[in-house]
Amino acid sequence: MHVSGLPPYSEANIFARILRGEIPCKRVHEDAFALAFHDINPLAPVHVLVIPKGAYVSAADFHAQASDAEIAGFWRAVGRVARDLGLEASGYRLLSNMGPDAGQEVPHFHVHLFGGRPVGRMVPKA
Ligand code: AMP
Repeated sequence: MHVSGLPPYSEANIFARILRGEIPCKRVHEDAFALAFHDINPLAPVHVLVIPKGAYVSAADFHAQASDAEIAGFWRAVGRVARDLGLEASGYRLLSNMGPDAGQEVPHFHVHLFGGRPVGRMVPKA
């Protein structure tokens, strides 16, 4: 079952290929649960993506299907990456696009971490 309103997970997606080492990335952290790397098209001085090692198409899929250990391990990695990048004092934003309304482009769950400058308030008003 997939729960995201997205197609089922495809091993051909670009982040699966990065996880398999088929495509390079600028890695900032890796552990048993997560890989973090710089976004190829940064929107802030710090723009890092954190992805789980497991095959989850979206935030909805990950939070419904992943084990407690995977969820805890992933979110601990997010916190660690922000800390290791020195962003705790200045602050940062976490963001995850889920499905069509959010414009999710890559169908492997990921969290964007933005920092290094004030990043404004929330989302643009419609
Ligand atoms: P989203 O719209 O949340 O799915 O965001 C996908 C993000 O992945 C975008 O910010 C892209 O710039 C980024 N991205 C796509 N391909 C790569 C890549 N090969 N390495 C690093 N970041 C990438």
